[in-house]
Amino acid sequence: MIDPNYRQGDAKSDPFGQDAMLKPAPVEKIPDGPTTPQVAYQMVKDETFAQTQPRLNLATFVTTYMDEYATKLMNEAININYIDETEYPRVAVMCQKCINIVANLWNSPEQNKWKTGALAIGSSEACMLGGIAAWKRWIERRKKAGKPYDKPNFVISAGYQVVWEKFATLWNIEMRQVPLSKEHTTLDIDAALKMCDENTFCIVAIQGVTWTGLNDDVEALDAALDKYNAETGNEVCIHIDAATGGFILPFIYPEKKWDFRLKWVLSISTSGHKFGLVYPGLGWVVWKDKQYLPADMSFTVDYLGAEVTQVGLNYSRPAAQILGQYYNFIRLGFEGYKNVQYNSMQIAKYFHEQISAFPEFVPYSPEVPNPIVTWLMKPEVQKDAKWTLYDLQDKLAQHGWMVPAYAMPVNIQNMVVMRILCKQGFSRDMCDELLHDIKAAVAELNALEYPTPTRIAMEKNVPLVSKSFNHTGK
Ligand SMILES: *Cc1c(COP(=O)(O)O)cnc(C)c1O
Repeated sequence: MIDPNYRQGDAKSDPFGQDAMLKPAPVEKIPDGPTTPQVAYQMVKDETFAQTQPRLNLATFVTTYMDEYATKLMNEAININYIDETEYPRVAVMCQKCINIVANLWNSPEQNKWKTGALAIGSSEACMLGGIAAWKRWIERRKKAGKPYDKPNFVISAGYQVVWEKFATLWNIEMRQVPLSKEHTTLDIDAALKMCDENTFCIVAIQGVTWTGLNDDVEALDAALDKYNAETGNEVCIHIDAATGGFILPFIYPEKKWDFRLKWVLSISTSGHKFGLVYPGLGWVVWKDKQYLPADMSFTVDYLGAEVTQVGLNYSRPAAQILGQYYNFIRLGFEGYKNVQYNSMQIAKYFHEQISAFPEFVPYSPEVPNPIVTWLMKPEVQKDAKWTLYDLQDKLAQHGWMVPAYAMPVNIQNMVVMRILCKQGFSRDMCDELLHDIKAAVAELNALEYPTPTRIAMEKNVPLVSKSFNHTGK
């Protein structure tokens, strides 16, 4: 029998020798009294201890590795609220410098010293801001023309990230989805234009489609839209959701026109915390020129040595990410970003080649335009196999790898794919280890005598849902 009054423990006791460590962690109510920082630390730490190592999380697009100086800078700025610009004016200037740098990476034609853009908490907020601005510009045009503006819509491929569903639902806007198909693995431009009408305020083109890693063809879209607008008198513009591509294209494909070099591209958003190489909590949106940012969305301040325009959904927000982004720009420079992105691309291409060599698998696409590889089981193999990619996901998780399996969106929802993100921190050596673990797992699965539950469910056509992953962009 353990005596409950045996001892209480004090600050001198080892955390693991204290009473507090025998109590369950609070779930519903705040504990009655305090405990020591050591015990509190240990309890919080331990609760997250059994999770995977972030660098083994190949499901996420978000940065899981930064160097020591970046980490130090960000930790040192952890107590700074970005919105307190009066107190921390240099952070606001630094933010605006980052907007300038990003805008110029995307070939902004804007002549103003401070380019028109906004800091965001991620691409989701950045996409919302881009979308809202396009919607408001359309409202203005409709008002001027004396036409109704109560039925707005935008057009996007079904490979959209969930933020666009939120955008449509939260602001009561119709989202017109262009289905993906085996022939059209990215935005089908003809189909997209057929969906446009006078109430369409923009087409969203994606650079780095969350589900597949592919890029919509923006140059062709721009040309087709130019013709469409001339013929119809509509002014449908393009917002680019470049959550991934925004920091890949300028370094890897500088010749490729997808950005402000194109006529109808009026706004672009990206995640600083994806291939901008900064820890989570950072997004950017840039407009082609000040005139495309509706005045009532912006808040102008002039204490930065010039007029600086601010836009955002949130008020308070962390400043540390800005320091991390600006550090990366200085530390890496164009050449350094290119080196990092080049390596990620090379590792993705290597993985793509190796996974294609498995008799069981076929890549979703022959191309690897972003450091993302998506593959599926060959239909003829799946037919006789006793397992599915969901079982492979579970096997790999036993080795710590987070590699999601998921069903594709409407129209091709029967297709189950698997995907890895090759980010900074996923080395060639780790890639070989992963391939080794996949090989071993596939051998074990191939030796199964009876079908797995997911295989049986697939046979019965039960929609399969991955248990543990939010694949839609995280
Ligand atoms: C990740 C992603 C988003 C959402 O970005 P967050 O930075 O996670 O808010 C939006 N669009 C695409 C295409 C994405 O890949």
